[in-house]
Amino acid sequence: MNQSFQNQRFKLLPSVDEVLTAADTDGIGSVLGHVSRVANARFAIAELRKRLANATENDPAGRSEMLRDAVELFKHVCSNEQALRMQSVINATGVVIHTNLGRSPLSDAAANAVRDIAAGYSNLEYDLTTGKRGKRGAAAESLICQLTGAEAACIVNNCAAAAFLVLSVFGNGGEVIVSRGELVEIGGDFRVPDVLERSGSTLSEVGTTNRTKIGDYAKAIGPETKMLLRVHPSNYRIIGFTEMPSVAALAGLAKENGIVFFEDAGSGALVDLSEFGLGDEPLISRSIADGANIVSFSGDKLLGGPQCGIIVGRRDLIETIRRHPLYRALRVDKMAYAALEATLSSYARESHFEEIPVLKILSMKREELERRAAEFTAELRREMPDDSPLTVEVVIGKSAIGGGSAPGVEPETALISVVSAKHSAEALSNAFREGKPPVIGRIVDDTFYLDLRTVFTIDEATLKKAVLNCTAT
Ligand SMILES: *Cc1c(COP(=O)(O)O)cnc(C)c1O
Repeated sequence: MNQSFQNQRFKLLPSVDEVLTAADTDGIGSVLGHVSRVANARFAIAELRKRLANATENDPAGRSEMLRDAVELFKHVCSNEQALRMQSVINATGVVIHTNLGRSPLSDAAANAVRDIAAGYSNLEYDLTTGKRGKRGAAAESLICQLTGAEAACIVNNCAAAAFLVLSVFGNGGEVIVSRGELVEIGGDFRVPDVLERSGSTLSEVGTTNRTKIGDYAKAIGPETKMLLRVHPSNYRIIGFTEMPSVAALAGLAKENGIVFFEDAGSGALVDLSEFGLGDEPLISRSIADGANIVSFSGDKLLGGPQCGIIVGRRDLIETIRRHPLYRALRVDKMAYAALEATLSSYARESHFEEIPVLKILSMKREELERRAAEFTAELRREMPDDSPLTVEVVIGKSAIGGGSAPGVEPETALISVVSAKHSAEALSNAFREGKPPVIGRIVDDTFYLDLRTVFTIDEATLKKAVLNCTAT
């Protein structure tokens, strides 16, 4: 490649100002702010420079083509950046605890508490009675104890952190006994055997994948044994010829041997959800009543609160955890405490089924969803132009719990199928996702569906507009 030819071409590259001025005529990227816009313009020009370095003398390139290409690239980068920014989406997937969509939506009370507490000063660690330093999270901990019957509680960043912390404090340097049926991967990089190893404990596997008896645990207990661990296999089920000892049996065995029994309940429920098919999810109060020494569970799964990991159990054990340096490293901030306290208050007032979105969504009946879906589609049909390529129908289907909780539990729902005479389900799904606000639906057997179970009633009008304006390409 001729050096001077290339130098000539590089001189044609637009400046950052030229790109911004040209792009601004259609307001692209204007919401991103000047710093981001300059960075994106630089990136676009650098990309063009790379392209030019590989160009041949036959590739046409005038100043105006370069500017046009730079603006096009700039717009693309800005639009990608805008899509990355945190924004509300409409969850029409029917997956109640959708980890990718932020797990549990907070109750109004919890969201308001976050805004009030986080945007100002608060008594986070200040005792208003004595005027001295207070204990962070004291009210949330006390509510958890009231709701679960546990002696003490402490709160960390998430349930993975909770399990790691408990194992590090009590298993470190010794053996932890776990059933082979519970050596699970919870998701991401949380695999029970790896977490155990990282915590400094040695794993002692007992039983088989499908059946483990109390005698298997008893035989494995030796001088190095520090702990019995039960992990709720949240995201999968073994069915058929299965057996595992009860919490009470494990608690008794641990007590006889002077070791700790820790249950990682994962999702965990504060109230009985068996009428919604969730009878297999450990009820935290039952585990405590049955003698589990320590139980950990997530704040943003079935509990319906903010991301956090809750550890409950015997007072002396919780105090030992609190004194460990890892606890300080894993502690939560004022926003989590504010949201958790407000969420738990709904349970304490026994208004959780009216106030906590996850529980409201779970308890919606098929008939109610059918009625909503029928009204929704009827209104859509009235408003859709006669030549619209879209058709909408109500069909009975299933929702899902999600969040690695309750596999196989699929509440009946009424789905709305959206079919286009012109476009594939994939194209429809993309168009809905790119809308403002983005709408996330579900594709089953090449059909695009919206499940109103996870759509808030106040978002229905917006969702209707999204269908009417849907312009798949
Ligand atoms: C979900 C889950 C975890 C991890 O909880 P996070 O709050 O997501 O960190 C740990 N253990 C079990 C059994 C779980 O179900």
